Amino acid sequence: MNVIVMKFGGTSVASTEKLKNIADIVCKEAIKNKVIVVLSAIAGETNKLQSFLDDFETQYSAESDLVLTSGEQVTIGLLSAALKIKGIKSIPLLGWQIPIITDDNHEKAKILYIDQKRIIKYFQTNDVIVLAGFQGISLDGKITSLGRGGSDTTAVAIASSVQAERCDIYTDVDGVYTTDPNIDQNAKKISKMSYEEMLEMASTGAKVLHTRSVELAMKNNLTLQVLSSLTGKTGTFIVDDKQLIEKEIVSGVSYSKNEAKVTISGILDKPGISAKIFSLMTENNINVDMIVQNISQDGVSANITFTISRKDYELTKSVLEDSNKILEYKALSLDKNVAKISVIGMGMMSQSGVAEKMFKTLAKHEINILAISTSEIKISVLINENHTNIAVKSLHDVYNL
Ligand code: ASP
Ligand code: MG
Repeated sequence: MNVIVMKFGGTSVASTEKLKNIADIVCKEAIKNKVIVVLSAIAGETNKLQSFLDDFETQYSAESDLVLTSGEQVTIGLLSAALKIKGIKSIPLLGWQIPIITDDNHEKAKILYIDQKRIIKYFQTNDVIVLAGFQGISLDGKITSLGRGGSDTTAVAIASSVQAERCDIYTDVDGVYTTDPNIDQNAKKISKMSYEEMLEMASTGAKVLHTRSVELAMKNNLTLQVLSSLTGKTGTFIVDDKQLIEKEIVSGVSYSKNEAKVTISGILDKPGISAKIFSLMTENNINVDMIVQNISQDGVSANITFTISRKDYELTKSVLEDSNKILEYKALSLDKNVAKISVIGMGMMSQSGVAEKMFKTLAKHEINILAISTSEIKISVLINENHTNIAVKSLHDVYNL
């Protein structure tokens, strides 16, 4: 039995017309294969449900998940109806009807197990299963959700469990681009990239896929395709790096304005001080990204700079202000006006000079680097946010993307 999984996001299901368009796309596939369609709620719907919940101050509970996951019930019912009109044997199913078993961490549940026996049974009498994304059921029978944006993860999990031929993620863009086309018109669609590159792009600002879904696809060696539900043209394939014949030295430039910089100056240069600072961050659930430490001329005091997510700005500020007794720093400064620019590519691992080129290019445009961080396949720099566009464009240009 050949199974194809097709996932459609919130903007792709946002109207009756759009749902009918999806029915056409699914029909073409259902002639050749068994199909599992995974749907999101209509774009904006889950936010609306969240705002109702805010009025009742309920979070991470059976109630909040029951409400949050209800948007998907609407879209799967409508699409299944549209498929039936077209003569397709289809069944709409909620997560618990498969069932997709998760742990009981409401609003961030992890999938434990998917029962494929039921899927096989449903396919004896149906050609298409229309499955609600983003939801599951805990072992004690409560509805759970996988975290916002989680229907990508549902699609990958179900595709892995039935060993689907492919998992196609339909969205409102026609693939993953070498950079944001809104910043650089010369951005090109990438035809094939590795899971690792996609993960780096996602963590550095390109929001195409739910990060967990890419990690899960990588673990199960499942080929993903990101494509547009409007054009239906071949999109970007995300595959195991062994399938990449030519590994690009740099395959993309991404940016994130979701950053803030923290500098603590005049702290004592002695063992344990970094541990103290970062324990404070951990205790308060603040994620730290780039870290730079330098020792001052006098050899006694040091400065430490690190980045946090912009949403944690106020919290970080108050936590650090309240901790001067423990940390004994001379000055604290926080800056929201920063952006992180990253160049990403598998080929970087075996090529020298990539960083030099990046720094030279930024220097040529008189862009000051505030912090640097690297991984095997990524170099990120922190700069003043006002220089984002010029930095992205010139880097996209200098690596011939
Ligand atoms: N509807 C859910 C959300 O908005 C899940 C998803 O769209 O992937 O987060
Ligand atoms: Mg999404």
